[in-house]
Amino acid sequence: MHLILEDADPDDRQVECRHCHWQGSVSELKKGDYLSLTNITEVFCPKCSRYLGFIQHDVKDEEDSLKNS
Ligand SMILES: [Zn+2]
Repeated sequence: MHLILEDADPDDRQVECRHCHWQGSVSELKKGDYLSLTNITEVFCPKCSRYLGFIQHDVKDEEDSLKNS
């Protein structure tokens, strides 16, 4: 049920808070801590501040190996 975003997602991708039903774009979300262990950044609703999900970041090593192949 968590919102899962990616770096590649456009900033104007529409998202909805399942708690207070706020609707808006990814760029309006409150960004939380970056968790290096799992390579994600948590995101929170700008209206009710509840946890919505996370941004899954690209793994750099994979990118590099793709370019080299
Ligand atoms: Zn909300």
